[in-house]
Amino acid sequence: MLRTANSMDVIVSEMQKAKEAAENAKKAKEGGSKKPLFLWLKPGHKALIRPLCKMQDTITLSRHSKWNKDRDLNINSICASEVEKPCLYCEMAKEDKALKSKAVIYLPVFVYQISDEKGNIVTYEETQEDKSKITKEVKNTVRLLELSAFGVIGDVLQYFWKFPLDPDNCQINECDFSIEQVGEGQGKKFITMHKNPKPMHDRIKAVAASVTEDEMFKRIIDFCTPKVSEDNSDPFGDAPAKSKDTDPAIEAVVKGVENGVEDDTIETW
Ligand SMILES: [Zn+2]
Repeated sequence: MLRTANSMDVIVSEMQKAKEAAENAKKAKEGGSKKPLFLWLKPGHKALIRPLCKMQDTITLSRHSKWNKDRDLNINSICASEVEKPCLYCEMAKEDKALKSKAVIYLPVFVYQISDEKGNIVTYEETQEDKSKITKEVKNTVRLLELSAFGVIGDVLQYFWKFPLDPDNCQINECDFSIEQVGEGQGKKFITMHKNPKPMHDRIKAVAASVTEDEMFKRIIDFCTPKVSEDNSDPFGDAPAKSKDTDPAIEAVVKGVENGVEDDTIETW
């Protein structure tokens, strides 16, 4: 009898372990369902925004990014040098030039709303603590606009950079702007337009005060976690990577380089 009881206990405990492992795997996979942080547009989307600071008060961080057709394999990671650690992606960039880090300027903006081409407010799904999902509209919220001198977004950076240089214009946080994405892929364009100067609403001012440099840094690092090279050193080496902690996104890059695959690096989310 004792044997039976024991084996029952073993089964129960094993089942519990399996359940926990499955939950952990699910949690790890759901890593992407964090609270949205960045202002990402899709074709036909138009965002009405108010920058929360001047360009000289934005923060600039070195970032590695590589687009993959399979969203789960996208790389979007702050260079570990920003947290004073050796960076795995910097190592990998020696073999794969597309992985080279680029400076990204993070401009915090208040988003009045994002609408689609039919004028409907764009929605997104947010996972709650109890794992249930709710649909939310993208309106009256703070997002970070990622600007870089490279690619199509370079036009938006130029626009905001040059805007206050014209003596006829105000500072970028003294009026509202619209940014519209037209087309996608190679034909993607952004149209940025300004509205008339208008004092910032008191409630937006209050929100702006909470968007500090420290808080932005913390949240960006949390969202685009750096890859320290000690984690998974030399992914191009002969020794097979420890299967336990192989990152599928890294594996995809290694395979791409080994097969000499030409990638189309279009940064689209
Ligand atoms: Zn790096």
